[in-house]
Amino acid sequence: MPHVITQSCCNDGSCVFACPVNCIHPSPDEPGFATSEMLYIDPVACVDCGACVSACPVGAIVPDSRLDSAQLPFVEINASFYPERPAGVKLPPTSKLAPVIPAAQVRAHPHPLTVAIVGSGPAAMYAADELLIQHGVRVNVFEKLPTPYGLVRAGVAPDHQHTKKVTQLFDRVAGHPRLRFYLNVEVGKQVSHADLLAHHHAVLYAVGAPDDRRLEVEGMGMPGTGTATELVAWINGHPDYTQLPVDLSHERVVIVGNGNVALDVARVLTADPDDLAHTDIADHALEAFRESAVREVVIAARRGPAHSAFTLPELVGLTGTAEVVLDPEDHDRVRRDLAAVSDSLTKSKLEILSTLGDGSAPVTRRRIRLAYALTPHRVLGDRRADGVEFQVTGTDELRRLDAGLVLTSIGYRGRAIRDLPFDESGAVVPNDGGRVVDPGTGQSVTGTYVAGWIKRGPTGFIGTNKSCSFETVQALVSDFNAGKLTDPVAGPAGLAELVAARQPDVVDSAGWRAIDAAEVERGGRDGRPRKKFTDTADMLAVAAAAEQAPPPKRRRLLARLRDLA
Ligand code: NAP
Repeated sequence: MPHVITQSCCNDGSCVFACPVNCIHPSPDEPGFATSEMLYIDPVACVDCGACVSACPVGAIVPDSRLDSAQLPFVEINASFYPERPAGVKLPPTSKLAPVIPAAQVRAHPHPLTVAIVGSGPAAMYAADELLIQHGVRVNVFEKLPTPYGLVRAGVAPDHQHTKKVTQLFDRVAGHPRLRFYLNVEVGKQVSHADLLAHHHAVLYAVGAPDDRRLEVEGMGMPGTGTATELVAWINGHPDYTQLPVDLSHERVVIVGNGNVALDVARVLTADPDDLAHTDIADHALEAFRESAVREVVIAARRGPAHSAFTLPELVGLTGTAEVVLDPEDHDRVRRDLAAVSDSLTKSKLEILSTLGDGSAPVTRRRIRLAYALTPHRVLGDRRADGVEFQVTGTDELRRLDAGLVLTSIGYRGRAIRDLPFDESGAVVPNDGGRVVDPGTGQSVTGTYVAGWIKRGPTGFIGTNKSCSFETVQALVSDFNAGKLTDPVAGPAGLAELVAARQPDVVDSAGWRAIDAAEVERGGRDGRPRKKFTDTADMLAVAAAAEQAPPPKRRRLLARLRDLA
């Protein structure tokens, strides 16, 4: 089998269109694409050309001869997506190539289409990419931090450097001469929705889901409790979380919920700090992990093994890098589920779980225990958490687990956006294919769009945002072509003046490039991909110094061209 898709698959589908023999599925036009845990290469049809390797933004595709031992399970995972058949028998192709949906064609107009994108994470950058394909379209990206790329910078675990490679694609988009960054600018505070709408044909919100779903049980909120997503932000050096109190002085951490975020946190909490020292982890987190007394992280799910929320690729990755165990009663649950389930994906997860070590054995080195059928009842402790009381799901039995840190990892939650409607139950902005809809009138809100988690809820992978943003851009361009969007009141210079007046510390693309270069340079000295600034003031100082330096010739030329256009 020539090529294999591995753990860091981001599902953006670029490989599908690069493949000359249509051997990667599900493709974006197929029903399973939106919910698939990863994409799979048909081992029989692959012609070993390597086109998919170049197209993949996260380096997830590897020739089978170059797989490392931890990646070997992916040979079978790719193959098992396809029906069993005799060697050499290819599937009848539905078409020679996956059908490419044509990019939205922007009609000629005296005022070129100008779009404000709020947020700079994956959904924002995929939307910008899609818009900039068209001649003349201008995109201004507004981001409240001085650094772009959202959860790729602040949410992806530091030991998943492959996944962070997608920033190379985003850097290319950000370097487009018709894209302008307005970083360190908070929409809703320094500039309003009305300001943006006046200066653009459309405003596209790709702000993600910045809050956590909260667990409403007694004791949550006291010292020693927190959320996994806050911890991830602290680990990644997000400037708003550097002061997060993280107490690692107790032997056990309990995480409630067993999605991929819980796995990320458990893996990092039990990793060897010397390994983490080769990543872009924040210095404060690395120091804390060096001092950590944590020996066991328990990931507690309220349902049984067959309903585990983590994905198969992440389970393979976890068991390949960490010691993972199950208690005997959970091994029994796995056996019972294995006898009952029929779908092959769940079966594969259960088969891996069935091979795990015995959680009742004493802890000899840092480990992760996956635990099932534990419904959180209350957090125990007087002034700070010292454990969790669970109810064994479906029974009256209560079970106590001692812990010095109790984290919930039960999903992200979208936050209402000033001046836009909000659906509290789904925690999304009500929309129709990306067009924001006023629930009172049922009409779309002129010039206002959403993409990513604030549009569809907090599920999926980085690349899932590509097709999500594509759909929104199609709607936006169609409205522009139909004459439904209002021309901006002023040109690019007018907008730049307005923003500078409201936020003198605005960081532009050159400022970000300077911060990026300084971080990479600091990291290079210690053999790390980058050493992040975690204090906004430090970032702003580096960006300001870049502004004072004379721009290189090429950048000067681009700036001149931008002003002339
Ligand atoms: P998630 O996958 O939605 O998992 C949420 C977990 O919380 C589930 O186990 C759920 O259990 C549990 N839960 C919800 N309400 C609960 C309650 N009241 N009490 C106890 N447990 C409760 O969320 P996530 O881990 O935050 O991930 C969000 C998305 O990001 C997912 O699509 C994920 O795949 C993606 N992500 C991907 C990666 C990666 O690919 N490496 C990394 C991080 C995140 P039930 O199933 O019983 O409801």
